Amino acid sequence: MAERTFYNEILTDHNLHPQHKKKIENPDYVLEGVNPSCGDDIFLSLRLSGDTIVDVGFEGDGCAISQASADMMAELVMGKTIAEAEHYMDLFYRMIKNEASEEEIEELEEASVLQDISHMPARVKCAVLGWHTLEEMLNKHKA
Ligand code: ZN
Repeated sequence: MAERTFYNEILTDHNLHPQHKKKIENPDYVLEGVNPSCGDDIFLSLRLSGDTIVDVGFEGDGCAISQASADMMAELVMGKTIAEAEHYMDLFYRMIKNEASEEEIEELEEASVLQDISHMPARVKCAVLGWHTLEEMLNKHKA
């Protein structure tokens, strides 16, 4: 029960006070991510300096899970290298598929509260929306 409250508090906090739901200055990339099954629609912006993510923000609308997950993703990858961001993406996807270890889940910090999504197939697309959008963006950058 305590864990459930914790999960709700973190989700609510990221929805009411998102740190990264904003326009960023001079983005190198802006990409729309859409999840039609729920109606989530975000625009992710990214600024790089060499291999480092120096700023990341998102705008748009969607359910509480999609918005909180995008905000948590932004918080984790901010200031990290592309390789580190890809490491977090891999961990997050495996957590959602219920394939990550306890230690790996801990690395995801607040995003670890979304591990229960692995038991809610209908919400998986909401939870991964921000992460998939980032992945697509980084793949474009590397191409
Ligand atoms: Zn959603």
